[in-house]
Amino acid sequence: MHLKSILNFVEPHQGFVYGAVRWRIHSNCTVLDIEIRPRKNRLPVCSKCGRQGPGYDTLPVRRFEFVPLWGIAVFFLYAMRRVNCATCGVKVERVPWAAGKNHLTTTYAWFLARWAKRLSWKEVGQVFQTSWDNVFRSVKMAVAWGLAHRNLDNVTAIGIDEIAWKKGHKYLTLVYQIDAGCKRLLWVGKERTQKTLRQFFKEFGPERTTRLDFICSDMWKPYLKVVADVAGKALHIIDRFHVMTHFGKAIDKVRASEVKELKAKGQQPVLTGSRWCLLKRPDHLTDKQTVKLKELLAINLKTVRAYILKEDFQHFWRYKSAGWAGKFLDNWCRRTMRSRLVPMKKIAKMLRTHRQLLLDWFRAKEKVALGAVEGFNNKAKVTSRKAYGFRSFEVLKIALYHTLGNLPELEGTHKFC
Ligand SMILES: [Zn+2]
Repeated sequence: MHLKSILNFVEPHQGFVYGAVRWRIHSNCTVLDIEIRPRKNRLPVCSKCGRQGPGYDTLPVRRFEFVPLWGIAVFFLYAMRRVNCATCGVKVERVPWAAGKNHLTTTYAWFLARWAKRLSWKEVGQVFQTSWDNVFRSVKMAVAWGLAHRNLDNVTAIGIDEIAWKKGHKYLTLVYQIDAGCKRLLWVGKERTQKTLRQFFKEFGPERTTRLDFICSDMWKPYLKVVADVAGKALHIIDRFHVMTHFGKAIDKVRASEVKELKAKGQQPVLTGSRWCLLKRPDHLTDKQTVKLKELLAINLKTVRAYILKEDFQHFWRYKSAGWAGKFLDNWCRRTMRSRLVPMKKIAKMLRTHRQLLLDWFRAKEKVALGAVEGFNNKAKVTSRKAYGFRSFEVLKIALYHTLGNLPELEGTHKFC
């Protein structure tokens, strides 16, 4: 089979034909150069308005990188024509294989962007011998295309989440769709203020907002306020993952202050290295951690009491009816308020304040993928940690949309990967 037949099969271009194919060695690498020519009597297309016009002149040959073949870099060589457009004046022509000044062909950019979902951007660059910049620009192009072509009309449930970003308490607000059949990242915003979330609803639009049945978030005041203001019709739920995160932080506080106390009294710091035993679910502990936990439980420490209160609270989520769950919640809060553990008492107060939102969880849990927020939160953290290249908000945002946005992709004539 002729190479040109293969090219015409994977990448046909209307109005153009493949010409001579040459290969050469360039700094120890084999490179394949493939010429492209316009079809005879086919006028160039104006890149501004998309209409055909008479040719004006021809520019020097440009190289466009295409998908590599058998470890050989592949370039299209083409001399761009300029159009004498009746409407726009003299403009460079539009070609189907590349956009604007991009020296990567559109097919190659999509190819790199797809691989960047499976490998880190750096790895993609290494494997395909291209720069980090090229990979980044390809991902950016894919994200921009995906955002412009996604459909947001079927969103009935969203989860609002925040992740820490950079050192020093910088936050991002993330909004996910958590419908049982469709889970994806919808939006990324800087900070976690009222303004942030209002911006989301503004971009999302009032019509779509009225179609929301469920909104799930943390007990974070700015979020609660905005949701009540903007989407009061939807059922607002506090999700399990965020509630349990508060417990983790409270236990950390109890433990840290107890370690200090014990040290001041000159006692053995039994709590050192115990953090993970106390934060993990019992069934997730390793053998060594189980032994440590047994040791801890044998002594009546404040930390242990806090831990037991947390584990006891897990029962809350197992109720079938909101009525019984409510009784349990009241009882748990009463006990905790007598515990003399300040961070735990804070949680009890918070849960009491948001009692209704918590109980609404039971009304929504059958209909919405409530666990999704936790899964997304983990993935978002991994993505933000993965590359130190994500120093700027713009880059991190693109990476998050690319990995979690489930964005539509341009369907080419041929699937390369
Ligand atoms: Zn024009």
